[in-house]
Amino acid sequence: MKKALVCGAGGFIGAHLVKRLKKEGFWVRGVDLKYPEFAPTQADDFILGDLRDPYFCRHVVDMRFDEVYQLAADMGGAGFVFTGEHDADIMHNSAMINLNILDACYRRNIKRVFYSSSACIYPEYNQMDPDNPKCSEESAYPAAPDSEYGWEKLFSERMYLAYHRNYGMEVRIARYHNIFGPEGTWQGGREKAPAALCRKVAMAPDGGEIEIWGDGKQTRSFLYIDECIEGSLRLMHSDFTGPVNIGSEEMVSINQLAQMIMEIAGKRLSIRHVPGPQGVRGRNSDNRLIYEKLGWKPTQPLRVGLEFTYRWVEEQVRAAYGTTPS
Ligand code: NAD
Repeated sequence: MKKALVCGAGGFIGAHLVKRLKKEGFWVRGVDLKYPEFAPTQADDFILGDLRDPYFCRHVVDMRFDEVYQLAADMGGAGFVFTGEHDADIMHNSAMINLNILDACYRRNIKRVFYSSSACIYPEYNQMDPDNPKCSEESAYPAAPDSEYGWEKLFSERMYLAYHRNYGMEVRIARYHNIFGPEGTWQGGREKAPAALCRKVAMAPDGGEIEIWGDGKQTRSFLYIDECIEGSLRLMHSDFTGPVNIGSEEMVSINQLAQMIMEIAGKRLSIRHVPGPQGVRGRNSDNRLIYEKLGWKPTQPLRVGLEFTYRWVEEQVRAAYGTTPS
């Protein structure tokens, strides 16, 4: 039986990845500071602990795993990453995790390590026009990410690539673009736009109002969690190192995203634009490279994933606050 280690298995993508690896027949060990918040872990073994500690990392990587997935990071949505308040923690904590895990994997002679980088590594200067952002993989340099989160990801990408070059480690690097879906953070400050907007819509009475940060004309694309896991496993099991985008090319403005969620909810709400952290003006995945290398692209439109996500967030709101206003 193949063995996999998932670092960050208590988080959104990690918990979904564990489920999928179990379906694929793996024995799975999960590691995180916390258990998954919304459903029991399906990992065969789950170790709670802090991956910033090198001794803990060595303890966790105590056998020759066939595959290691490193998803642990100190991260969140715009309200966490773009305020500037968490920059030191984001850089220090995530870099420590990556330094330690890579070293522990090297000592155990682990051959295959997956790293989740981010679209946030792309330079701000290519993402000023909301209608025409550039996020092809080679455009990452000259580097100019607009957040320290992006800089840490870029540094870590380079470190994984250096282990590949110097030590022959088979690393696989994905640059995720806004992954969303059920069982993701939906309140508390680390939630991302789709979950935050689902929550706002679910909590608003019909005919009421929701707030959006900025003018809502900033654009993004969003990839449903199941598609993200499929793309990640295909990359891991291919002979292509990356870095490569894993995202959707269906670009929408935040106003359009809100509109879609209102339609799903069957509510008419007005939008109030308020100042808030926003990130770049435009961003979209460029899927040419992943299609060329792996023949993979997302299979479903944004609306389908949003329907699942809205229903799930609505249930959470109801469970937390009683009935949702209608
Ligand atoms: P998440 O915050 O839900 O999961 C990250 C997990 O890492 C959390 O459960 C957290 O507790 C854990 N963690 C943090 N510090 C730790 C430590 N010191 N020791 C052990 N565990 C620790 O985030 P996610 O959305 O599941 O993202 C997973 C990965 O994908 C992250 O590396 C993230 O940067 C990357 N990514 C995500 C997105 C997205 O849209 N969700 C986009 C781009 C990149």
